Amino acid sequence: MVKQGDFEIVASPFQAVLNDLHSKYKLLQDGAVANYIPELAKVNPDLFSICVVTVNGEVYEVGDYKRLFTIQSISKVFTYGLALSDCGRDYVLTRVGVEPTGDAFNAIVLDEQSKRPYNPMVNAGAIATTSLIQGANPTERLNRVLDMFRRYLGHDVFVDMSVFTSERSTGHRNRAMAHLMLNFGMIDHNIEESLDLYFQQCAVMVNCQDLAVMAATLANKGINPITTEQAVDGRYIKDILSVMHTCGMYNFAGEWAYKVGIPAKSGVSGGIIAVVPGKMGIAVFSPLLDVRGNSVRGVKVCEELSFQLGLHLFDCLGNGRRKKEEGRKKNVRF
Ligand code: GLN
Repeated sequence: MVKQGDFEIVASPFQAVLNDLHSKYKLLQDGAVANYIPELAKVNPDLFSICVVTVNGEVYEVGDYKRLFTIQSISKVFTYGLALSDCGRDYVLTRVGVEPTGDAFNAIVLDEQSKRPYNPMVNAGAIATTSLIQGANPTERLNRVLDMFRRYLGHDVFVDMSVFTSERSTGHRNRAMAHLMLNFGMIDHNIEESLDLYFQQCAVMVNCQDLAVMAATLANKGINPITTEQAVDGRYIKDILSVMHTCGMYNFAGEWAYKVGIPAKSGVSGGIIAVVPGKMGIAVFSPLLDVRGNSVRGVKVCEELSFQLGLHLFDCLGNGRRKKEEGRKKNVRF
């Protein structure tokens, strides 16, 4: 406890929970940094930060929360929101499904019947989503994407050029997916333009604090809780959170939904965001990944945070009417 003038400042118990999780899991060294995008392999594997932003704009953070890294797949959540605003729910659904794949994030797979990519949270679906972003030319489309990120973050954003060019020159698997989708008429002929925009959105630089503000914006009806700017139409929040919940952690999405129980999205640079609707956004950054491409420490921190704070969406203990006997004991009126 600290005394300041007439006030007593009590260290927040919530901050103490984050500090404890950080001290505990920084000892965990499992996993490996992504290296299929050569520039990502240069990251310091020890970096580790946790940040929580509430819908009231309170910020709690620990570790390297100011350190910049590229957003990678977490961008897919936000470009999906922009595509929904640009083209409407019905049209977007004709181009990208909402079914989990159970496959890796970079699987080259389309729905047998509809030929759509399965969902917007895996690479094929995200490339199709990005191809829907409106604009007269590539510069206008990029600027619209950057401006969208600015609304979520509350400040200007930039593309890391070395990561962008590194992925652009090695991303043959993503290029193969784009060609497959072109073959089935799921994206238009400008595939190099769409791929460039996809690689650029993945190379947008953020820090852990930025990610938590973005997650808190999704928790707060699309309104950035720090700047109060509307970042995305609130009508699309349920679409975005639904696909995050079922598909955001790739082929770990089922176990994540079971254990952590809140919509989330991860990226290969080591970030994870998780959204507690109406309450808070959570972000963890640690570049050591498991075999599915999810941050090892990020998964552990979210599992424990969800358990300690009772965040699982389907954890109904403590809510609703009590059993008759309990009710009587506690003097609850029926
Ligand atoms: N840019 C990366 C890719 O397309 C993003 C993948 C990820 O973060 N899971 O492979």
